[in-house]
Amino acid sequence: MTDAGKSTAKWVLVTGGAGYIGSHAVAELIESGYRCVVVDNFCNSCYEPIARLQVLTNTKIPFFKVDLMDGPALEKVFQQYNIDSVIHFAGLKAVGESTKVPLTYYHNNITGTVVLLQTMKKYGTTKLVFSSSATVYGDATRFPNMIPIPENCPTGPTNPYGKTKLLIEEILEDLHTSEPEKWRFAVLRYFNPIGAHPSGLIGEDPLGIPNNLLPYMAQVAVKRRDKLFVFGNDYDSRDGTPIRDYIHVVDLAKGHIAALKYLNVADNESGLCRAWNLGSGTGSTVLEVYKAFCKASNIVLPYDIVGRRAGDVLNLTAKPDRATEELKWKTHFKVADACSDLWKWATGNPYGYQVLGVADAFFNLPNDYESRVVALGCGSGFEISLSNVGASIVDLKVDGKSVVLGLVNECEYVNDNNPYLGATVGRYANRLRGGKFSIDGVEHQLELNEKSATVHSSSSSYHKRRFLGPLVTNPSKFKYIAKFALLDSHSQFPGDVVVNVTYEIDIKTRELEVEYEGIVQEGQMTVINLTNHSYFNLNPFQNTGYDGTEFKLFSDQVLEIDAAGCPTGRVSKSPDASKFVYTKGGVQFDTCFVTGNKGGIDTRENKLEPVIEAYHPESKLKLIVCTTEPTFQFYTKGPGFIEGYGERFGFCCEPGRFINAANIEEWKSAVTLRKGEVYGSKTLYKFN
Ligand code: NAD
Repeated sequence: MTDAGKSTAKWVLVTGGAGYIGSHAVAELIESGYRCVVVDNFCNSCYEPIARLQVLTNTKIPFFKVDLMDGPALEKVFQQYNIDSVIHFAGLKAVGESTKVPLTYYHNNITGTVVLLQTMKKYGTTKLVFSSSATVYGDATRFPNMIPIPENCPTGPTNPYGKTKLLIEEILEDLHTSEPEKWRFAVLRYFNPIGAHPSGLIGEDPLGIPNNLLPYMAQVAVKRRDKLFVFGNDYDSRDGTPIRDYIHVVDLAKGHIAALKYLNVADNESGLCRAWNLGSGTGSTVLEVYKAFCKASNIVLPYDIVGRRAGDVLNLTAKPDRATEELKWKTHFKVADACSDLWKWATGNPYGYQVLGVADAFFNLPNDYESRVVALGCGSGFEISLSNVGASIVDLKVDGKSVVLGLVNECEYVNDNNPYLGATVGRYANRLRGGKFSIDGVEHQLELNEKSATVHSSSSSYHKRRFLGPLVTNPSKFKYIAKFALLDSHSQFPGDVVVNVTYEIDIKTRELEVEYEGIVQEGQMTVINLTNHSYFNLNPFQNTGYDGTEFKLFSDQVLEIDAAGCPTGRVSKSPDASKFVYTKGGVQFDTCFVTGNKGGIDTRENKLEPVIEAYHPESKLKLIVCTTEPTFQFYTKGPGFIEGYGERFGFCCEPGRFINAANIEEWKSAVTLRKGEVYGSKTLYKFN
């Protein structure tokens, strides 16, 4: 995971990086060690692919919602990041639409590119890879020897979209001619990009009716459309349908890295402006692709043969030799691979990035995409709102009633008064005696926030950190998953740790599962103990405390503690715990109970054992907390006086490892995470 921010590090600016090809290029760039900053105006995309990519690659991807035609907004990005090179995907791309609104295409594609080049010039960025298209060749079959199509095939686009691409190529040539030693441009003429990321998490998400064959077939397969239309079967091909050159989008994305590398070593004296075809060099007919997709999806898609489409020609296959020789690039995937990857994407995301029952809002400032609140299960009667800030549970509603305490924006969450409301607590939850622990014979001292202990890692806890993501999926009708990631680096703790927090809700069974995972990324060893710090209140009226809640605790074994709140080593029986009705004046807990679960660095293999049941007779709501963890802290006195809430307005159940385990030989291994190991735990909250 890499960290962002203003630095001398070199960045690749990806325009249109939220789009289909751009998002795949970002994935490959990060994989190859590049740092990417993305701009997009979302005219044909949304933020989801960026959020997903962050979690997928464990990398922060700075994003700016900027229209390329807005020079001042674009300049801010160049001011903030040291942009070394640009990959320019942003543009409108629908051939048919371009014939209806040509001015919109010329304005967006040409003006956007000119403003981008002006800004690059101003900030001294001289390398650009441009998304051109095979469309610039027009009908290459008009020449006798131009199939497969080489780069020296005369151009002749037949629609406004293609003309914008050619015009941009000419602008680049003119700019290069004006100052040859300065500019290095790679013009990539794509053939037909298809497929999706092998993870199944990013792919093409066409808004409206898809213009291309593969996305159309995918929509027929997931029953969004009735049938496929094949435009003409009377061409002079193997099966009568036209031949095109299809290229897996991941191969295409890799072509951009090859081009960037080429630009980086290009001759400084004469600069560069050169075009390369990116295609496979192999033609497939429409019916061949149809069969490959039917095989991948195991569905025989209905189709109708209809008349030829105006402008379609028999064969447009690339001659990609120049890219192979000069860029050292060639395709690796076949049409069949692209079809299986597309099918994985389509089945996991039948409506693309749009997920019914998911809504999001900004949690800090408008257009600050790093601080959002995402709601899952909207309108279902079981709804959770999660924030990037602390990967926190901001709200959890059962039949419209909030059952947790929450605050309204990031400002309130990062306030020092916030007692970790709903937050992920880490890197070390609960108490450490004297704020100390030793790793490999080296003693570490944390900031104390109690007289003789550090609780919940004090002010450096995760409640103030912005997590990456979330990666939201809807694997089945009733389930929603949101996964957040954090690189916990440069903290008071030794080693850098990648932390994943996954929330899964089932709106039918009304269950929320929280899963933690941690791995050491830098360093050899560290300590770790993660928990969620939600304050529950099942009262019909949340702002009146939770008096009257009936509790049943499934353990009466408690860790005896000393004045520092740390265990004495003795386990005793709690006489009060098993069953009681809570009142403010009654018995209070800030107590660590031992569950029946075994310890260990990854407890996820343990059974989810019930630990607490809470029921309120007026709301008739019941909560059962189950965990794989060996202990849980039961806390009844919180959250203290903060905005909107007073003391004893919510109770906490914080599953985790033994208190102060890092300093106790017997328990230490359960909180000591070594490189190569995985820390893990699961907790389930069931409502009925
Ligand atoms: P896409 O529409 O998925 O991605 C383009 C992105 O650019 C979108 O996210 C859109 O919101 C953004 N954008 C458009 N105008 C913008 C502006 N003025 N400012 C900021 N952002 C803007 O398209 P894609 O399929 O990923 O194509 C990427 C590029 O590749 C395009 O330039 C396209 O013309 C070119 N291309 C695509 C294909 C293809 O079949 N997909 C083929 C050849 C070339």
